[in-house]
Amino acid sequence: MKKGKLIIFSAPSGSGKTTIVKHLLSQDLGLEFSISATCRAPRGEEQHGKDYYFLSLDEFKEKVKNDEFLEWEEVYAGCCYGTLRSEVERITNQGKHVVFDVDVVGGSNIKKLYGAEALALFIQPPSVKELRNRLIGRSTDAPDVIEKRVAKAEEELTYASKFDTIIVNDILDDAFVAAENAVKQFINS
Ligand code: ADP
Ligand code: 5GP
Repeated sequence: MKKGKLIIFSAPSGSGKTTIVKHLLSQDLGLEFSISATCRAPRGEEQHGKDYYFLSLDEFKEKVKNDEFLEWEEVYAGCCYGTLRSEVERITNQGKHVVFDVDVVGGSNIKKLYGAEALALFIQPPSVKELRNRLIGRSTDAPDVIEKRVAKAEEELTYASKFDTIIVNDILDDAFVAAENAVKQFINS
């Protein structure tokens, strides 16, 4: 069976990562989403076991204790996110390529672990002002949550150079094409 490759998408929240990842997953590229665990509450239409594994903080801590995470981070104060080792096995065992949507620290850690087996893509918003507008337009987070995310974005943007490829998400269709081309080139290499 063909061995799956790893494709990492990282960016500050609001950059358009989820939009681009969903587009790629809808193409016939043999990709499968690595479902992360989080202790934040579901947002909008999000479903347990599809978008995330929604856990209580105690359940999350238990998995940390049992070394079930490939990586995990307290991305926002009191709010942990992590990639379960079992997700990588689940997907690569099907001969599919694993797609991660993780924060910039998690993304650079996965890249360090897997080296050339992983492609690390950084999705960059045109500006922090536009990122804030997108978070407001998404209408899924309270104003204080949006401000926390925007405040973190400046620092997160400094991680771009640690990634293999930077995709500027200004015109969405152009970003779709750039992401598709980068992924196709990597999985066919
Ligand atoms: P992330 O997953 O990085 O937090 P999302 O994919 O949820 O970001 O995108 C944030 C918001 O911005 C969504 O409402 C999405 O529809 C919108 N969006 C994404 N890309 C663009 C773009 N290129 N131009 C305008 N709006 C965009
Ligand atoms: P959101 O709450 O908007 O879904 O995600 C917030 C941030 O957490 C995003 O940057 C997202 O990529 C990141 N994230 C989601 N899952 C994981 C994960 O498993 N590990 C890490 N390190 N970050 C994650």
